[in-house]
Amino acid sequence: MTSKHRCPSAIKEVDLLEASPFHLAFLISFPVALASATMLPFASISEAEAALGRNLTAAETVWFRYSAGMHDFWLYAHNIVFLLLVYTLAPLPVALVELRRPRAIHRYKLQPKIHVPVADVLRCYRNVVKTFVFAVGPLQLFSFPISKWAGIRTGLPLPSAWEVAAQLGVYAVVEDYFNYWLHRALHCRWGYEHVHRVHHEFTAPVGFAAPYAHWAEVLILGLPSFLGPAIAPCHILTFWLWLVLRHIEAIETHCGYDFPRTPSKYIPFYGGAEYHDNHHYVGGQSHSNFASVFTYCDYIYGTDKVIWHHLFIVYTCTFNMQTSGVLICLLLDNCRDTDITKHSL
Ligand SMILES: [Zn+2]
Ligand SMILES: [Zn+2]
Repeated sequence: MTSKHRCPSAIKEVDLLEASPFHLAFLISFPVALASATMLPFASISEAEAALGRNLTAAETVWFRYSAGMHDFWLYAHNIVFLLLVYTLAPLPVALVELRRPRAIHRYKLQPKIHVPVADVLRCYRNVVKTFVFAVGPLQLFSFPISKWAGIRTGLPLPSAWEVAAQLGVYAVVEDYFNYWLHRALHCRWGYEHVHRVHHEFTAPVGFAAPYAHWAEVLILGLPSFLGPAIAPCHILTFWLWLVLRHIEAIETHCGYDFPRTPSKYIPFYGGAEYHDNHHYVGGQSHSNFASVFTYCDYIYGTDKVIWHHLFIVYTCTFNMQTSGVLICLLLDNCRDTDITKHSL
């Protein structure tokens, strides 16, 4: 069995960082010791209003009451909580639909003959949560001093809607560009066999498989998400919103369905579920559709055309098999029917 046709039931346990109580204590105390106490410097709302020279908005009042007595480190530590919550909740609706597969919705499934068993989804979820807790969590804590150095702020005033929108746009473009090149590099022979192969175990991805990857890949491909906020520092509320939206975007592109009129379809140059699903479908030999959010990088660097060559081979192969009855597909790597035999229906 080639690695690109590996059945989800053959998912390996992802190697994770070992964590002892000493390590955890060190991970927590290190950034706390580095950071100075940077809670809101106002004792009351009236004091904050006097400093700003105006009344607080409703949102600023809520933020003051929530964060005034909280150390910036604990605010920053919310990141991992949001990641776990979004990862647990966002893929659930489509996963529940997948259990019943109603015809009205199933017609939007990108690989309709493939059904990933529930046991494999649960195994995927368990491995991703381990990666979040033992790899992403410690990195988040260690990166707190970097966030302070970069200028992520927690105080008042809160940013305007325009400022938030502009920053999110910059972050998406920066993340997409650097993710494109890192993802493309992971498709070299060594990178794929030792790291990226894990993510491609799902040839027909599901939402829960969005962050399913070798822990090193989760860390490597997570870096571009922090690059934008490092270049254009924002309020921590914007940072949380960015992390949540980026996570939801990844879950949508892996959900296995291409629903019409989803809000993301109105974003210019947005890739979407079908775009990334094709990348998974072709698998390890894929040399296209590397970008995480948009399509322009693949267009500019000429990696948007190769996918059609692969898909042409696959569909031609499937057609030949159906018409001649000869199992030509078994001789080729990228054959949908070969996958079908390895996924229970
Ligand atoms: Zn890939
Ligand atoms: Zn993927």
